Amino acid sequence: MLPTTPMLIDTHAHLDHRHFAADLDQVLARATDAGVTRWVAPACDLESTRQLLELAARHPHLHACAGIHPCDSHSVSGDDWINKLLALATRPGIAAVGEIGLDYYHQPPEGFDNASWRAHQAHVLRLQLELAATLGLNAIIHTRESHEDLVRQIAPFTGRLRAVFHCFTGTEPQAQELLDMGHLVSFTGIVTFKNSPIIQATARSLPAGAFMLETDSPYLAPVPHRGKRCEPAYVADTARFVAELRGESVEELAAHTSRTAEGFFRLTR
Ligand SMILES: [Zn+2]
Repeated sequence: MLPTTPMLIDTHAHLDHRHFAADLDQVLARATDAGVTRWVAPACDLESTRQLLELAARHPHLHACAGIHPCDSHSVSGDDWINKLLALATRPGIAAVGEIGLDYYHQPPEGFDNASWRAHQAHVLRLQLELAATLGLNAIIHTRESHEDLVRQIAPFTGRLRAVFHCFTGTEPQAQELLDMGHLVSFTGIVTFKNSPIIQATARSLPAGAFMLETDSPYLAPVPHRGKRCEPAYVADTARFVAELRGESVEELAAHTSRTAEGFFRLTR
């Protein structure tokens, strides 16, 4: 009997991005050929959520999420948006609420100063965490130069939802603090970069079940594709690198990271 190779899951790919508009079918076919057979697609705003739901209807292994990205949180105001998001998040097949979070790295958009922008992001995050907890969905978290505020915001939700801190670039103790609250982390292609010894040490030391793999396509292509448009197939390159780091086979790594993702996103196909 032939050994069955466990398949990889790209747990974070922006498949509604305009960079995939022309050739998404080929991109997904290449991923499947590379053994990356399922894809979780985080949303950035209401329109992106709608687009992902349409794509998921055409591609049974594409799992759409619903959410407002912190960098796009100026796309919503007033009280009505959360009801619109609720209507989308309750559609069948939604894998998580995300990506949501806090971003203090990018400049505030027009009409906001630093303080009002951070307050608005915090408000949009809080309502979405509440929405996720109410619906029994997990959350995909984006945090950039905002880790402490993020942890403070999510702490009251401990036990009500789990979050994945996507594109994790922290130390092992920082990851452990999140694991202790029931959360997970995921690694992008950044872990393959030569100048990433801290992330590599974290990926080496975390137990199976504590982390998942992702591309963050179209951004952050791993070595040897660095600088090119990133696509889900490249999660296989990141998997080979992380397996080598950890001294396990790609098959072992694929088996436990896929099991973790299936549980976290409740994937049944
Ligand atoms: Zn993202």
